[in-house]
Amino acid sequence: MNARIAPEADRAYFAAFLDLRGKRGIVVGGGPVAALKAEVLLRSGTQVTVVAPDLCPRLSELTLVGALRHEAKRFQPGDLVGAEIAIAATDDPSVNESVSAAAKALRIPVNVADNAALSSFIMPSVIDRPPLQIAISTGGASPVLARKLRTLIESLLPFAYGKLAALAARFRAASKRRYPDPDARRRFWEGVMDGPVAEMMLAGREPQATEALERMLAAEPARDASAGMVSLVGGGPGDPGLLTLRALQVMQRADILLYDHLIDKGILDLARRDAERVYVGKEADNHALPQEDINALMLRLARAGMRVVRLKGGDPYVFGRGGEEIATLAQAGVPFEVVPGVTAACGAAAYAGIPLTHRDYAHACVLVTGHLKDGTLDLDWEALARPQQTVVIYMGVRAIAQLCEKLVAHGLPADTPAALVEKATLPRQRVIEGSLATLPELAVRENVKPPALVVVGEVVRLRDKLAWFERGQTPVDKSVEARALQRS
Ligand code: SAH
Repeated sequence: MNARIAPEADRAYFAAFLDLRGKRGIVVGGGPVAALKAEVLLRSGTQVTVVAPDLCPRLSELTLVGALRHEAKRFQPGDLVGAEIAIAATDDPSVNESVSAAAKALRIPVNVADNAALSSFIMPSVIDRPPLQIAISTGGASPVLARKLRTLIESLLPFAYGKLAALAARFRAASKRRYPDPDARRRFWEGVMDGPVAEMMLAGREPQATEALERMLAAEPARDASAGMVSLVGGGPGDPGLLTLRALQVMQRADILLYDHLIDKGILDLARRDAERVYVGKEADNHALPQEDINALMLRLARAGMRVVRLKGGDPYVFGRGGEEIATLAQAGVPFEVVPGVTAACGAAAYAGIPLTHRDYAHACVLVTGHLKDGTLDLDWEALARPQQTVVIYMGVRAIAQLCEKLVAHGLPADTPAALVEKATLPRQRVIEGSLATLPELAVRENVKPPALVVVGEVVRLRDKLAWFERGQTPVDKSVEARALQRS
């Protein structure tokens, strides 16, 4: 474990929610911006005093109805004495500066509108579903982006989530008595949030939800060991955006993740923060843990009551040995589930602009492995060398020369289009285009490294029109270079 925690980027704020109920807060300024800030403070129960010679209509109204106090004067440093928070929103920079200086001298948190340098805290964009609150900050980088995200989350999050949070709050103390052990308690609440209680609450059936929660709390707790299970999850080809929602849910609940070398950091970052992450490897012949050990490890963890996520690149059942891993568990009677993923062929096809089938060019698509066994390739070449078919070869970089040669020997024209897609869907994706005759040489020249797929078939030509991803991604379009090479 790394005990030292480095601050992120150049400036990371400490995120906190302040309890200002009944505390004094000073807003300096009488305009519409000051009004907005005063309203935010009022919503959190702060006793607000506005210091300003004149007030805008909104602030006058709030003063009239007694929501806040108005001191009709220019700001003086002494105004902050006794306050717990200060906000400056005047159009006079010198006033804003003196509020900031006075607050800092008194060690009162201060925010100056639109001026992070003068502020000791910044105000996030907030989504309110009381008591649930979601705060968004871009660290001052882009308030517009923060607002955009806020709109997005607002639209995704039904209001009933607030009620669900309120329900949880009512049962918090009872759940602590029932489940003193934090892990058991977390599992109980996960059961609530993933089960019928949450569903009923979100459907507006509060009394039924409350009853169900009471029943759950009274029921015998599930024995720890029986909570254990294994989820075999496809992590997709690399771009975290290609994870399924189900994969994300499962990863958010995991106690431990066992992952392969194909799993990118961006994907691991989406797992529950305190879930343990264990690299079990598998890079061609360089296994960090032999398959039997992985199987035994999963069995042991699940039997100890842990929620194990076995995270594999692409889809677990496409050249992923997923079947073997699950077979051991099935035999031992350990509960398991399988979450499919976007297999590399589909990811590469979409991001490289190579449809796997096409009415005019390919009526079938075959996925094969080019992994060498004892240095030779043992494939059904007759079946692969058919016209009107796309062949996608996984793990085929090392054997590319043999592959192309055999396909030609079994009847495919040497000028059949073929491409190598390296690190498909990741920002470093590269596509090398050629033909069965030229691809092996191009692969050497371009120093193509796994993970990469070989795609063979007329559909490769469609790239000219359909490639979209690497155009916006790589500064140098390697495929253009490769094509030039091919012509020379
Ligand atoms: N289960 C995985 C395949 C595992 S075999 C899936 O469904 O995608 C490993 C091979 O998959 C690699 O050698 C490579 O050929 C291919 N592969 C996986 N991810 C890839 C990626 N991002 N780009 C190109 N090929 C990839």
